[in-house]
Amino acid sequence: MTESHSHRLRAIPPMQSVLQTHGARALASLLPEVALKQALQQALDRLRAELADGSVVLTDREALLALCDARLADQAAQLRLRPLREVLNATGVILHTNLGRAPLAREVIDHLGDACVGYAALEYDLTTGDRGHRDSVTRSLLCALTGAEDSLVVNNCAAAVLLACTALASGREVIVSRGELVEIGGGFRVPEVIASCGAKLVEVGTTNKTRAEDYRRAITAQSAALMIVHPSNFTVQGFTARPTRESLAAVARESGLPLLEDLGSGALVALDALGVGHEPTVQEAVRGGSDVVMFSGDKLLGGPQAGILLGKSQWIARLRAHPLMRALRPGRLVLAALESTLALYASGRATASVPALARMHRGVADVSQDAENLLAKVQSSLGPRWRACVRPSIARVGGGTLPIAALPSFAVVIESQPESDASVVGLEAALRTAREFPLIGRIDAGALWLDARSLGPGSIEHAAQGLALALVSAHNRSMSGLSMSAQRSLDESADD
Ligand SMILES: *Cc1c(COP(=O)(O)O)cnc(C)c1O
Repeated sequence: MTESHSHRLRAIPPMQSVLQTHGARALASLLPEVALKQALQQALDRLRAELADGSVVLTDREALLALCDARLADQAAQLRLRPLREVLNATGVILHTNLGRAPLAREVIDHLGDACVGYAALEYDLTTGDRGHRDSVTRSLLCALTGAEDSLVVNNCAAAVLLACTALASGREVIVSRGELVEIGGGFRVPEVIASCGAKLVEVGTTNKTRAEDYRRAITAQSAALMIVHPSNFTVQGFTARPTRESLAAVARESGLPLLEDLGSGALVALDALGVGHEPTVQEAVRGGSDVVMFSGDKLLGGPQAGILLGKSQWIARLRAHPLMRALRPGRLVLAALESTLALYASGRATASVPALARMHRGVADVSQDAENLLAKVQSSLGPRWRACVRPSIARVGGGTLPIAALPSFAVVIESQPESDASVVGLEAALRTAREFPLIGRIDAGALWLDARSLGPGSIEHAAQGLALALVSAHNRSMSGLSMSAQRSLDESADD
C-alpha cells in the first residue's frame, strides 16, 4: 500500500459519525438494527473499495461523509417506494395482466377503507347475532344482477374451475369439446386443470366443429359433468360449429348431469355497442341453462381479482360445502371491493364508473382530445432533441378477452430528432423506472407510443409531469438489452 493510498483510507469517516447522518437516520426508521448495521457497513466498504481503485478521489473526511449521507438517503428513498404503487398504463392494453388487470373505482377504494379499518360483519349476521356466511356479502347482488339462484366467490376464475371440477367430477368424467381445450396463459390449460382435479377429460367433436349430439353420445355411467369453456383468447373462423348453450343444457338435463361453463371474462353488460363483436354475458349463460357459470372478477367485470361461481342452488350448495372451499375463499378486502363494484352495476352506473369499462366506452373524439392535452402539456419540454405528435392507434381490451377486438384510440408518439443524442429506449426506461408514477408505454419502429385510451383522462396530468422530467433526463442512456427483453415479455404476457 502506498503512502498516499493509506492516507486516503484514513479519511473514511468512522461508523459513529455515519450513524449521525440524515441518511442513516432515515434508514434507521425503515430497517431493523441488524439490517441497518449491514447497510452502513456496506456503504463504508464500498467507499473503501472506491478510494482504493481511484473511482472516488475525495480526500477530505467531511466530503466523504456527505457522499455517504447522500447514498444512504437515496437507499432510504428507494425503500420507501411501495412496490405496488400506482403505475400509469399507456400500453394500449386496458386489462393488462402484468399491470394488475382492472383499476378500481374511487368509490370502491373509499368503501374498502370503511370495510377494513376496523372489524366487519364478514361471517356474522348483525340482525340475529348468529354466525353468517361470507359469501352472503356479494350473493344478493350477484343473484339480482344475473338471475342466478345462488353464488360463491373464490380467489380467481382458475380456482372456480378447480373447485367445480373437484367437487362435482373427481374420480369421474368431464366432457369437453376439442375446440375448447384452451390454454389461458400463466400455465392454465383446461386438460391439465381437469386432470389435477382427479377427473378424467373426455374430448368430443373436432377442433372446428362440435355438435350437441357428440356430447350426448359420450355420456356414460362414469360421466359427471358437461363443460363449456369460452375460447376467450383466440377465434376459429371458417367451417366451424359450436352447439348452442340451450341444446347442451337440454342434453345435460336429460342425463341429470350439471352443465358447467367457464366463461372467463365475465361481462355483466353487453359490449356489442363498442363494435368489438359479441362477448357472451353472464346473464346469457344463466338464462341459457348453464348450471354453474364461472368467471373472473378482474376482467370485463372490472373489479378485484376474484373468481365467481353462480347458478343453480343444487350445485352451488355442493361447492360451498366442499373442504377445498376453505382454501380458496377470499378475504374481506376482496369481498368489500367486489361488493362495491357490483353496487355500481346495480345502480346502473357501471359503464361510466367502473374504470376499465369507462376506458373502453370513452368516445374516440374524447380520447383524441386526451392525447392532444398530454401533448400540449409536454410540448415545452421537448427541446431540440425530441419531436412528438398525436397519431391514431389501436387499443385492446386485454386480459385474454376479445382477442381480435380493436378499440380505436390515439397516442402521443415521441421520437428523437435526427442527429440528436436522444434515445427512445432510454426515455422508455426513464419513464418506467420513475419514482413517482412509473409510466409504461410501448416502443414501435423506433418511436415511443403512449396510448391515451388505456391511460385514461384522470392520468393525463401525472403522465405529463413524469414525461416532462424524463424528456430532460433521458439522453445519454444507451440501449440496454435488459429493457428490450423486459418490454418484450410484457407484450407477450399482456393477454393472459
Ligand atoms: C382468464 C380465464 C381464466 C382464468 O381466470 P383467472 O381469474 O385469471 O384465474 C379461466 N378461464 C377462461 C376461459 C379465461 O378466459
